[in-house]
Amino acid sequence: MITIRDKNFVPLIEADAIQARIQELAKQINQEYAGKQPLLVVVLNGAFLFAADLAKHLTIPCEITFLRVSSYKGTESTGQLKEILGLTESITGRDLIVIEDIVDTGKTLHDIYNQLQTHNPTSVAIATLLYKPAALQEPIDLHYVGFEIENKFVLGYGLDYDGLGRNTPDILVLE
Ligand code: 5GP
Repeated sequence: MITIRDKNFVPLIEADAIQARIQELAKQINQEYAGKQPLLVVVLNGAFLFAADLAKHLTIPCEITFLRVSSYKGTESTGQLKEILGLTESITGRDLIVIEDIVDTGKTLHDIYNQLQTHNPTSVAIATLLYKPAALQEPIDLHYVGFEIENKFVLGYGLDYDGLGRNTPDILVLE
């Protein structure tokens, strides 16, 4: 168990299981992208460890770039929208694999997906380490999912609580 500020977190997915699942996902990507050269688009900060471990097991040629999303923007009329920041590469005509830590409501990836599409990439696939089906509000096509989990707050292996806890090899859940 670890305690961060006032909260206790207990193990949910251990490091060995995470690594084994990532190797399976990488194998699938290697097969499905054979003969292609995808651009991995890593959503910071939470996906940094997942992206690093996944990339180590990719044998196809690939490039890697990083983006951030702003906190929710927009007015009452436009609704809330997350904006992409920091993407410098041209993505037109590229096969993109977006790498995310967790899909909760799906709103973040929905916004990212729509903004990437405006630049006319050849294809956009999504790889997420974690997915909470019970929390989903925006329909979204997830091509590579590490683990489906319950609708509870998790941290570790890149995911934080109040900035802390990203640096654990395991994923933990709020007790
Ligand atoms: P969504 O837009 O899908 O609701 O949320 C996605 C983002 O919310 C993730 O990239 C992550 O930053 C954050 N998030 C959602 N659920 C959790 C969780 O259980 N733990 C942590 N640490 N972050 C979460």
